Amino acid sequence: MLHESMDAGLQKLIDGNRRFVSGHLTSPHQSIERRQDIITRQEPFAIILGCSDSRVPPELIFDQGLGDLFVIRVAGNILDEAVLGSLEYAVTHLRVPLLVVLGHCECGAVKATIEALELHEHAEGHLGYIVDTIQPHHPTSSG
Ligand SMILES: [Zn+2]
Repeated sequence: MLHESMDAGLQKLIDGNRRFVSGHLTSPHQSIERRQDIITRQEPFAIILGCSDSRVPPELIFDQGLGDLFVIRVAGNILDEAVLGSLEYAVTHLRVPLLVVLGHCECGAVKATIEALELHEHAEGHLGYIVDTIQPHHPTSSG
């Protein structure tokens, strides 16, 4: 049953992305009736862990609507305690069967990380946390 709903959810995302790519959006689940339907409950069919980049909003690129996706967006798709807590909530409380980690081209957070590594510099401010989290981590030889 879970596997079926996972496959069906993935197919919805694939179909929605095809509509987005072709420019034939249906913009589902955005009516006043839909808003009324989800006031007291939500049953998203997929969790999307994506980047904050303004060019990749999951509801738009997968042509989905209100209540369809449980979206977690953070620059560079990094995992921290808040993101993990959000994922855990979606899985354990909402029983969302499908998790998609959505990468994208020309990611500013990844570029900032590469730049910091090449220049041997530490990114300023809170961006430093994101860069530190994205950069490759190598196990120490001492174990
Ligand atoms: Zn990005």
